[in-house]
Amino acid sequence: MSELMSDTRIIDTRLWSNKARNLSPYVPGEQPQHDNLCKLNTNESPFPPSPKVGEAINAVLAEQADELRLYPAPESDDLRAALAQLNGLDSKQVFVGNGSDEVLALVFASFFMKEQPILAPDISYSFYPVYAQTFDVELVQIALADDFSVDADAYSQPCGGIIIANPNAPTGLLLSLADIRKLATEHPDAVIVIDEAYIDFVNTDDSSTDQAVSAISLIDEFDNLLVTQTFSKSRSLAGLRVGMAFGNVSLIEALTRMKNSFNSYPLDKLAQAGATASVLDKPYFEQTCQQVIDLRESLTAQLTTLGYQVLPSHANFIFARPKDGNASMVASALREQGIIVRHFDQPRTQEYLRITIGTAAQHKRLIDALQELSN
Ligand SMILES: *Cc1c(COP(=O)(O)O)cnc(C)c1O
Repeated sequence: MSELMSDTRIIDTRLWSNKARNLSPYVPGEQPQHDNLCKLNTNESPFPPSPKVGEAINAVLAEQADELRLYPAPESDDLRAALAQLNGLDSKQVFVGNGSDEVLALVFASFFMKEQPILAPDISYSFYPVYAQTFDVELVQIALADDFSVDADAYSQPCGGIIIANPNAPTGLLLSLADIRKLATEHPDAVIVIDEAYIDFVNTDDSSTDQAVSAISLIDEFDNLLVTQTFSKSRSLAGLRVGMAFGNVSLIEALTRMKNSFNSYPLDKLAQAGATASVLDKPYFEQTCQQVIDLRESLTAQLTTLGYQVLPSHANFIFARPKDGNASMVASALREQGIIVRHFDQPRTQEYLRITIGTAAQHKRLIDALQELSN
């Protein structure tokens, strides 16, 4: 069915708008439905969400199922209050949406549809160029440095905005708060968006422990800084679709206006209840993030032993280059054994694999397969 749908020979675009005709939609990582698959390709969490999430959703269904006939809270007040409290902010500095992908779409419409182009790294989340096209925003891609790090000095040209994933994907490398501060200072009339989808996996052992890593710590200082995050990775809730943005009240108000001009109820009652319960269960969150960090460090060590070059990751995935650089061959060989990793066939990334951090058992299966390959 899906093959037929995407076959342009049988799809009649006569009635489509030019906009629909000219889109090139984002292609998400595949979600194959086979048993016994070792799925390390889309950066989902290997752990279940907090048990409190299911309890909260079940409570809504058990006690307030009749209320599903009513619309949910349009501004997700309880969830925003919980997120505000977690981050030491006011609720008016918090926005939530149906996944951070939706939040990012509203960001493009609210802040980036301007005369000047926006800037983003050339190797980053591949949805940014898609949004740019959707919203007719010109995007100038700024090359990563040779070591794949974001070179903050390369973003000095006049622009209508900047968007950077931090930690970046698929590299896992972290940009310092000093660099983010520099970008926000240099471009006071442009919104600087820091997409922190992976920030909860930053290894704080590297720096002094009480030093903040999230750019949320800078939003009181910079009225042009917006930080987005998601429940999809560190909160094991990719299936619930909840994302958020933190920033100055005026930025949040713009997002709210845009949301209310598009879809006033992006988060349903169950998602609001589940996400709020997740925020309130801090111990579970901290424990599972730490487990992912520990598993990442051990997988990095094991792959290094096998001759892989592994970038120092601060995310729930690693970006690794096999000894001979033949990542495409390794990805296919793994696939034959039911292990799915991500290979980006672009000039600078084609020798690397992006491998999502899994469970210890999944890592064993991966390492065993790689060991066999190298024999
Ligand atoms: C996963 C991811 C997102 C999207 O998250 P959702 O909340 O699931 O829509 C956004 N940005 C980056 C960099 C991501 O990796």
